[in-house]
Amino acid sequence: MKLWITRPMTAEVEARARRDFDVEIRESTLPLTREEMQRALNDFDVVVPTLGDLFSAEVFAAELKPRCRLLANFAVGYNHIDVQAAKAAGIRVTNTPGAVTDATADIAMTLILMTARRAGEGERLVRSGGWKGWHPTQMLGTHVTGKTVGILGMGRIGQAIARRCHFGFGMKVAYIARSEKSLEFTATRAGSLESLAGQVDFLVVAVPGGPETQHLIDAPILSAMQPTAMLINIARGEVVDETALIAALESGDIAGAGLDVYEFEPRIPARLIQLENVSLLPHLGTATEEVRSSMGHMALDNVAAFVAGQDLPNPVN
Ligand code: NAP
Repeated sequence: MKLWITRPMTAEVEARARRDFDVEIRESTLPLTREEMQRALNDFDVVVPTLGDLFSAEVFAAELKPRCRLLANFAVGYNHIDVQAAKAAGIRVTNTPGAVTDATADIAMTLILMTARRAGEGERLVRSGGWKGWHPTQMLGTHVTGKTVGILGMGRIGQAIARRCHFGFGMKVAYIARSEKSLEFTATRAGSLESLAGQVDFLVVAVPGGPETQHLIDAPILSAMQPTAMLINIARGEVVDETALIAALESGDIAGAGLDVYEFEPRIPARLIQLENVSLLPHLGTATEEVRSSMGHMALDNVAAFVAGQDLPNPVN
C-alpha cells in the first residue's frame, strides 16, 4: 500500500506516517499540478490531499483505471474534490470534521474583534510611527458586547461561534441553516438570508463551499445589511461575491469585513487590500500546531481503517 501525502505535515504526523505506512511526503507547500494529480491517481493506493488540490471531474475522467482507492482529505471542507466523480471512479473520500471546529471559531472571533475595534488599522498606525497619542475620540470603533450576530451555516463551526458570541459577549444570535437547531441557549432561525442580513450587526459565513453555496452573499444580500454592519467570512471565499463585497465596502453599504478566505486565494484584489475597514488573514482558521496535528492524525486514522478493511471513520462519499 503506497501512500502519498501532498504537503509537509507537523513532525508528529510525519513520524506516524513514516512509522505506519510506505509513504512519500511531498516537499512542496503548493497545490498539486494537473500532472501531479494524475500521478496521485496512477502511482499511489491512498493519497492525503488538501485545499487547492483540485480533483475535478475531468481529473478523474482522464484515468480509466486509477490505482488510487482513497483520498483521505486533510481538511473538513472538500469542495476542491468532486466527490461524486471520485465515487464513480471507485475512489472513496474522507475528511477531518470536529478537529477544526474550535480553532476556526476562534479565528471568527478574532476577525469580529479586529474589524469592530479597528485592530489592524491601529497596529498599522503604531508601526508607521504616526500615532500621536490617546484622546477621547481617537479611532472609535464598534462595540461588540451585546450586539446581534447572524450565522450563515449553523453546523459545528457555526454553533461554536454562536456559543462564543452568546456566552462570551452577551450577544443575541440568529442563524440560517437547512434544518432547525436545538441549542443550549436562545438562537432564532431567520426566515431568509435577506432577513438575517438586515437584522444583524455581524453576519458570519460558516457554510461549506461548493456549487450550492457559491455567491450566497451577493450584492442584494450585502445591500440588505445595515450600513453599520460587518461581514465575516471564515468558510470559503467562493461563498461571497468578492467584487460585490468590495463595491459594498467602498460605497459604505456595509461598515467593514473580516476575511480569512478569498474567492481566488491566494490572489487578493488590490482594491480590497487598499481598504482600511477590512481585516485580512491568510486562511489561518486551523493554523495551530495542535489542530494541524489532530487533523493529520484524523486523516491517518482514515488511511489506517482503509488499509485494515474497516469502516472509514469520516466518509463523505
Ligand atoms: P458542518 O458542520 O457541515 O456545517 C455546515 C452548516 O452549513 C450546517 O449547519 C448546514 O445546515 C449549513 N448549510 C449547508 N449548506 C447550506 C445552504 N445551502 N444554505 C444554508 N445552510 C447551509 O461544517 P463545519 O464543520 O461547521 O465547517 C463549515 C465549513 O467551514 C467547512 O465546510 C469549510 O469549508 C470551512 N472551514 C474553514 C476553515 C478555515 O480555515 N477558515 C477551517 C475549517 C472549516 P444543516 O445543519 O441544516 O445541514
